[in-house]
Amino acid sequence: MNSYFCFKDAREQSLISYLAPGMHNRYLSATLFLKGNIMDNSDGDPVKAGHLLFGTMPEIVVPKQVHGTRIILASPRITLPQRPEADGIFLSNTDLFISLRFADCFPVLISSSRPEPWALVLHSGYRGTMKNIVKEGISLVKRRYGNDCLNSAFSWVGPGIGSCCYTRKTVDPPTIEAGNRLPAECLFSTKDGLVSIDIGRAISMQLHENGLPMDRIKRIADCTSCKDSLYYSYRRNGTSCRMMLLVRLRTMYQNSPFWWENI
Ligand SMILES: [Zn+2]
Repeated sequence: MNSYFCFKDAREQSLISYLAPGMHNRYLSATLFLKGNIMDNSDGDPVKAGHLLFGTMPEIVVPKQVHGTRIILASPRITLPQRPEADGIFLSNTDLFISLRFADCFPVLISSSRPEPWALVLHSGYRGTMKNIVKEGISLVKRRYGNDCLNSAFSWVGPGIGSCCYTRKTVDPPTIEAGNRLPAECLFSTKDGLVSIDIGRAISMQLHENGLPMDRIKRIADCTSCKDSLYYSYRRNGTSCRMMLLVRLRTMYQNSPFWWENI
């Protein structure tokens, strides 16, 4: 147990709650639904997942993820059934839910209560990390709140595929691109002549380069491909199932009507 995230299990559905110390927990609700009954039955479809979780769907922003760097602002104009293309969502001043889906790519969450409660969620896999969606997202927050906005922010990275399971041939163009774009400590040669890429580490370094202090970057270092019991992994078995990150800013301190916020 640590104070920044917590694994839970209820209704045959495992999940991770991302937790921020102090005041933050009063407003941030951030849950990653892992392998389990509800995500199995949703089969990667966020609308099915929404019906299974909520019964009646609330207003929710669910972009179509395209491994790019576009970040959208959560607003009622783009809630379901709209599916704008984007790989990041910025949330503030609204009680809308926002959601992204993952199977090996990394969830990245940044949140602060200053100057007002806000959260940024990103989908950063190989391509998102090459294109540095983290920088894109942080730039958006800085444009909005100024360069000091990360002073009281927390960030979380993962779970995603580990360097143990993300290997590519040395001569593949994506390997060469990674060699050009990522710090040297994010690439290793394996004993069978492949190159292993540590995407989680690259994302953490991007967060730090763009202003997050190291002690505010919390990694969930599990590899989604290794830990079959907890996570879906596209690379392991081509699954169509996805883990779903669901975030909202709570405006009330009363008991929540949602079971995953009460366990
Ligand atoms: Zn692994």
